[in-house]
Amino acid sequence: MARERLYLFDTTLRDGAQMNGVDFTLHDKLTIAKLLDDLGVDYIEGGYPGANPTDTEFFGEDRAFDATFTAFGMTRRPGRSTSNDPGLATLLDAKADAICFVAKSWDYHVRVALETTNEENLASIRDSVQAATAKGREALVDCEHFFDGYKANSAYALSCAKAAYEAGARWVVLCDTNGGTLPHEVEGIVEEVVKHVPGSHVGIHAHNDTEQAVANSLAAVRAGARQIQGTLNGLGERCGNANLISIIPTLKLKSEFADKFDIGVSDAKLKTLAQASHVLDEMLNRAPNRHAPYVGESAFATKAGIHASAILKEPETYEHVKPEVVGNQRKVLVSDQAGRSNVLSELERIGLSVDKSDPRIARLLDEVKEREAQGFAYEAADASFELLARRVLGRVPDYFQVEKFDVSVEQRINAVGQRVTVSMAVVKVQVGEETLISAAEGNGPVNALDVALRKDLGKYQKYIEGLELTDYRVRILNGGSEAVTRVLIESQDETGARWTTVGVSPNIIDASFQALMDSIVYKLVKSGAPA
Ligand SMILES: [Zn+2]
Repeated sequence: MARERLYLFDTTLRDGAQMNGVDFTLHDKLTIAKLLDDLGVDYIEGGYPGANPTDTEFFGEDRAFDATFTAFGMTRRPGRSTSNDPGLATLLDAKADAICFVAKSWDYHVRVALETTNEENLASIRDSVQAATAKGREALVDCEHFFDGYKANSAYALSCAKAAYEAGARWVVLCDTNGGTLPHEVEGIVEEVVKHVPGSHVGIHAHNDTEQAVANSLAAVRAGARQIQGTLNGLGERCGNANLISIIPTLKLKSEFADKFDIGVSDAKLKTLAQASHVLDEMLNRAPNRHAPYVGESAFATKAGIHASAILKEPETYEHVKPEVVGNQRKVLVSDQAGRSNVLSELERIGLSVDKSDPRIARLLDEVKEREAQGFAYEAADASFELLARRVLGRVPDYFQVEKFDVSVEQRINAVGQRVTVSMAVVKVQVGEETLISAAEGNGPVNALDVALRKDLGKYQKYIEGLELTDYRVRILNGGSEAVTRVLIESQDETGARWTTVGVSPNIIDASFQALMDSIVYKLVKSGAPA
């Protein structure tokens, strides 16, 4: 039987960005969009052009995604024409493939929030959809508070959905904006809606206020909806949005959905799910939820004891899915077999061919475990992992040695009476027979060290010319007097390649130094610099 296509719409960069404490830069947005595109979601909602400088800039250039790049904004204002609404004009001009309009579908909101008539609201939906399609954009309409609206006045809520569909919207998205609707209600209401708007044009946008956003999304699909909106790690306002990191594996691994539907995420990409989830956490500088379904560190962890031997013999006895399929790993405290297969698959992914029986694999695994216990995070620092692996396998030349460095921070009153803080770094490097000393000032000690380190590497200088540091994140692990600092550095080169390196130390400068060194050495390895 041919499977039906189910579409995934990601709104991490729009609704997810509404969460307290989340503030994406343009660089963050580009990184996350790339991650989503790689994963295989169908739509990436990038933000609200015109609402803030970051979103406006994000939509200021053509972005070459496989996914449909979507701008979010309001329908035309009541009482105005589409040609006389600056907000709508900005949205129509945004460099996007699709526009997702947010529209009222609860008559109570139309009256109180919009202060207009029900008829004018319908006209606004129709006009906006038509303006978008006339401009060559795919149109989507988010029907805000749809489920509450449906309970209060089902005829009107339905007429909003129908107005959007009949005007040419590709998707009519039913939003549980307050997040208070329960799965059986969602299923019942969607069943009614699809009698008026074909399910192949109906989407679900659920919030997690009763912790059922995932369940509500699946209920809507059971009732006929064919697009699911959600976010990575369930990021979003208040209690969050539907979590795509839980929805994706459920759709792919649970037969009720897997037998009926295809989604854009391949089996191979499913294996990167845990990593995608952790990369987002690292970007937000927050500790991953150990107990997150499918991808959490403890999601497949079982304490040794009566279960352990059974799990080793027949993992299916205690696991609902295989951890490897979502890029996670089984944890049973009596065996390192799972960790070993994880390391092997990671080596394969980065293209290092090693014989499975090579004793160095066990050494690498021990090294990774020991360093992760110290605070290193190799999942988020692909380049540092690769270097560690190459070192254990004896494949990293000693390009240069840093004999010593000195970093100073000085606060003083300058000539015009202002208090200023200046940082300086001096680095002494041995490259072959050559001893090189470089000094640099910076806006902070790490910046000064970075500049000094990369100023003169003698014969290797030409390989690192295009290297730049694009992100720097610090996390203090186990606070208190025992605290250590983890530094993650993201770098980029002239080809646009990006990589992340990690350093851990009780001293932030030392942690930064380790990560900077890894980044430079990684670049030399990648550039094929001769030893
Ligand atoms: Zn929302």
